[in-house]
Amino acid sequence: MINTSVLVLNRNFQPIHVTTVKRAFSLLYMGIARAMDRQLSTFDFESWSALAAEVDDDVIHTATRAIRVPRVIVLQFYERIPRTKVRFSRLNIYARDNNTCQYCGRHLPRAQLNLDHVVPRSQGGRTTWENVVCCCLHCNLRKGAFTPDQAGMHLLRHPARPRWTPVFRTPEGRVAYREWLPFLGLADAAYWNVELLDD
Ligand SMILES: [Zn+2]
Repeated sequence: MINTSVLVLNRNFQPIHVTTVKRAFSLLYMGIARAMDRQLSTFDFESWSALAAEVDDDVIHTATRAIRVPRVIVLQFYERIPRTKVRFSRLNIYARDNNTCQYCGRHLPRAQLNLDHVVPRSQGGRTTWENVVCCCLHCNLRKGAFTPDQAGMHLLRHPARPRWTPVFRTPEGRVAYREWLPFLGLADAAYWNVELLDD
């Protein structure tokens, strides 16, 4: 199966998330979604399968034919309205801070990053955009249960709720295909990851 991503729209053509080609084909095959071409026409599985692939299309091969990989699918039954605010989530904090430790400034893979409460929870710090930053494991350990002042550390910048809307990216961090562009303007903060709670 081709390793690319497919943008999923709800019935109102609002983007709700990005999925795998395999999942997209399964939704298409089950009739839960329709595939959309570059002219923004939608197709069910049979009519989509009958389309001829163009030269630069990714295709999957079945026993009898080559089927174009859709870049965009439209759900037929599921109507979720995108949120209007940037979701407060781990992924979006990493995105806001550009995968960069907000103390030492190192840009690192996500596996080597953590979230840090600027004012520690043990000192009454809350889990909010204004008090949580991206932090490398080393700085996280060094800072411990102290405030930056107490630990003699400095924030690169004051954390705040971002004004941008999240960009739809593939799991590899790649931004999409030209077929996605007509829809991404609508993407004010629809995002597929889990909201963090202030506990
Ligand atoms: Zn650091």
